[in-house]
Amino acid sequence: MAPVKKLIVGNWKMNMNVHDASIFVHKLADEIKVHRDVEVVLAPTFLALQPVSLQIDRRQFKLAAQNLYWRDNGAFTGEVSAAQLRGLVEYAIIGHSERRHIFREHDKDIRNKVQAALRNNIVPILCVGETAHERSVGEMLEVIHDQLIGGLANVTSEEISRIVIAYEPVWAIGTGKNALPEDAEKAARAIRRQITHLYGEAAAKEIRVLYGGSVTADSAATYLATGGVDGLLVGGASLTVPSFAAIAAEAHTGEKR
Ligand code: PEP
Repeated sequence: MAPVKKLIVGNWKMNMNVHDASIFVHKLADEIKVHRDVEVVLAPTFLALQPVSLQIDRRQFKLAAQNLYWRDNGAFTGEVSAAQLRGLVEYAIIGHSERRHIFREHDKDIRNKVQAALRNNIVPILCVGETAHERSVGEMLEVIHDQLIGGLANVTSEEISRIVIAYEPVWAIGTGKNALPEDAEKAARAIRRQITHLYGEAAAKEIRVLYGGSVTADSAATYLATGGVDGLLVGGASLTVPSFAAIAAEAHTGEKR
């Protein structure tokens, strides 16, 4: 089995217009070195995907959509489908906590989106994680379990190797509060246990598990060294060139600033 590449995903959320995104990518390209053991993925606004795709070297950067709609086409005003993103992005973030909590996406929507992504050759980055309340009542592992069951319901054992899971505790996203590395490890192990149970040991070993939640250039190395964590989903710190470049550099084994 090929060694797992570290995956660093920058989720720009609803920031930067097309012009800003282009300038940002131009600057980032000067700072991020290409390494065989690291994959750097950019998730700009939908609008910027096409222009950025023409600008990047795919060996240096891959692209992700921040969301998608699960029907391939039709009367769904304002939505963007996986079929429309096909060939443009390698990844799609699905079930991000902002989608779950602000836009009220439920497991059914999320599992349909996972299916739509797979059907269109896009790797879903399925986000799971507990709220502060769920954590305070000791439900962290139950929430992860239920969200995995919900999101992966129709995923076959052939498809599971094409999925990435991101553990993102809701209370840590954009708050400056970090999960302890022990918590990230506990979550990553629970995710792999469940994948073992559902799809077998080989699938659990192969699947990539990311941590996300207020990761900075200073904390990245700790999470990347955490057992079971294969990469990072980064929001705020992906919006400045020095911090995102430093995080990507941390992912390359042996390269330290
Ligand atoms: C995210 O958007 O998925 C995220 C983890 O954001 P932040 O790094 O800002 O917490």
